Amino acid sequence: MTSYTPPGDGPFAIPTGLLIGERWTAAASGATIAVDDPATGATLTEVADAAVAEGIAAVDAAAAAAAEWAATAPRKRADVLLACFHAMMAQQEWLAQLISLENGKALPDARGEVAYAAEFFRWYAEEAVRIPGELATSPAGGNRIMVQYQPIGIALLITPWNFPAAMATRKIAPALAAGCTCILKPASETPLTALAVAEIMRRAGVPAGVVNVVTTSQPGPVCSAILHDPRVRKLSFTGSTQVGRVLLREAADQVISASMELGGNAPFVVFDDADLDAAIEGAMVAKMRNAGEACTAANRLYVQRGIHDAFVARLVERMGALKVGAGTDPATQCGPMINRKAVDKIERLVVDAVGKGARVELGGETPAGDGYFYPPSVIADVKPGSEILREEVFGPVAAVTAFDTADEAVALANDTEYGLAAYVYSGDLKRALAVAERIECGMVAVNRGLVSDAAAPFGGMKQSGLGREGSHHGLLEYCEAKYIAVTW
Ligand code: NAP
Repeated sequence: MTSYTPPGDGPFAIPTGLLIGERWTAAASGATIAVDDPATGATLTEVADAAVAEGIAAVDAAAAAAAEWAATAPRKRADVLLACFHAMMAQQEWLAQLISLENGKALPDARGEVAYAAEFFRWYAEEAVRIPGELATSPAGGNRIMVQYQPIGIALLITPWNFPAAMATRKIAPALAAGCTCILKPASETPLTALAVAEIMRRAGVPAGVVNVVTTSQPGPVCSAILHDPRVRKLSFTGSTQVGRVLLREAADQVISASMELGGNAPFVVFDDADLDAAIEGAMVAKMRNAGEACTAANRLYVQRGIHDAFVARLVERMGALKVGAGTDPATQCGPMINRKAVDKIERLVVDAVGKGARVELGGETPAGDGYFYPPSVIADVKPGSEILREEVFGPVAAVTAFDTADEAVALANDTEYGLAAYVYSGDLKRALAVAERIECGMVAVNRGLVSDAAAPFGGMKQSGLGREGSHHGLLEYCEAKYIAVTW
């Protein structure tokens, strides 16, 4: 079996095949997918390119392991997940270097991602032994109502490139805790992290067939075939709203339960009574974590007029001081974008905004040279109707607009088809909470720049998704409520 040895001291060479059942195998066709370093554009290695038959072989493997895993005692499932947590944290630095290499994010962000990703194993190890049940007397008094949460069945898990470790563990951990077996289809841009995590899990004691991994350059046909296999009962997808819509249609044919974590367009609202230092600190996190390549990234910054100019000046100073470079360089604070297409999209949105009257305060131009870089940029006075207010920029560009009243801020924040995350800064907690309640989104950070937490329900309203990941809500996505009416 082919493998890839990344730089640094690692526990093993990363298998670059398909994990189907107990074995890593090459694609039958011999086809491969190139994995590139976004800092240089050079190819790092290649991974197996599965065809439809291999997707179905992964379903066979997941089906063969399903009954035994569902019947495995919750404590044993918890022990396996906890072993995965410790095994992953033992390799935090190695995995962080790997994420920085194939995804481009700066090392501090990559280290944070590994810790966040591993935490899903620990959290769901703790949840596996606390799966709830219910017992009640029927209102008529004639029988008991017994409710049991059973594993939903084989799950197809599809993940994006922007958090190659965390998006995988956020799905695998609750699936395994609930007693489901699964097939992971990682993003083609960043498969190495998923392959490394799968091998860590295998070595930590996850039984053969419980987690299968299929990399493919034909996600449409391969995932469609899997979703049309009657043995598959769950789809969990994280990625763009556009692909999410396609997959919801695919899942409809077999009426498969679908959890959808889709795109975002987060507003970052700062009232003029906010602590300016804290708001700038929060904006740096909400905007610049992962160089802006996050679904929760602050996409539209709405700042009350009294504090607007000072906020923009401070943001320009902070963003202008960031060191741009390869993610693997320890000095880097803002790495490259994932590919050329991503840079082109950012450029298009900035050009559109400037064409409609926005002012460039910092950056705003694609540099020449190798790699997929875009500089930290601030554009102010962004006019209504600009594309950047409608589309995720998914890059290091802060688009700032002034507002006057709370009602105006809420209306601006809600003027989008998305509803994932939002941020509100105010010195008056009553006002901040009132505004948070009125913003149509699944998650609001009040006076902080980060919402993600394995213990909290992560997910969106409107076209940002269906269902929640993390917390006990995330576990129930992999369970069916079985009601038994009993007379005794
Ligand atoms: P994407 O293009 O939608 O791809 C996501 C995954 O879907 C990849 O594995 C991709 O495979 C696969 N895919 C593409 N077309 C498919 C099809 N027809 N059938 C089945 N699978 C298909 O998204 P992305 O560019 O990787 O990620 C960025 C997006 O993810 C952004 O919109 C971001 O907001 C969103 N996101 C959301 C969350 C959240 O929790 N809500 C978290 C992170 C990211 P290939 O790589 O092989 O194309």
